[in-house]
Amino acid sequence: MGSTAANGNLLVCQFPQTLALEGSTNGLTIARSPVSCMDAAVSNAYEGILIYFSTPQIGARDSLIDLCADLNKNPLSRHTHRCVSLEYRHRGLLTKLSEVGVTYVDIRLPNEAANPWRIWERSMAWDTILRIESHLSQLCPFLHYEPISETNELITCGAYRNRMVLGGTRLRDVCQTETHLHCEYYLNPLIAK
Ligand code: SF4
Repeated sequence: MGSTAANGNLLVCQFPQTLALEGSTNGLTIARSPVSCMDAAVSNAYEGILIYFSTPQIGARDSLIDLCADLNKNPLSRHTHRCVSLEYRHRGLLTKLSEVGVTYVDIRLPNEAANPWRIWERSMAWDTILRIESHLSQLCPFLHYEPISETNELITCGAYRNRMVLGGTRLRDVCQTETHLHCEYYLNPLIAK
């Protein structure tokens, strides 16, 4: 994607980490904190706002939620098309983003170069894979997260009284996919979710 003419101008917010961006930077305005993102969003007209967030940064998640809530409430930004890019799906974070009006979420691969225009094209094409409800539908409602450090969480199964630690293929191929609908613990939980 080299041309920006078809894409307009984007506000790209990156925090708490800054990613190397791939592709043309023409037409991009970069903000590196929630405050500067909000300032830019209400000071200029953008065709879209793209927020790159580092999912493991547990302590910064509230700032992301607050930013998305403010963008959704402010009359100068609420009608601007917005998309949040995360490193992986996290049920708790996605639920909160949905509650504050986020509609589109991109899940980027760990070592994938960040290309704002590529995400933007898909988002503007109303790609249903980017819809936040599509992401949430993949995740078992019994997923339970317990922070154990600034960037790590213990993931357990709420349907098994949080006594089963989740990881590996079960987490990846069952709990975080539609296959969870067939999981024995999902179908017969030991306690209510
Ligand atoms: S083990 Fe089954 S019930 Fe538990 S979180 Fe995974 S998919 Fe859900």
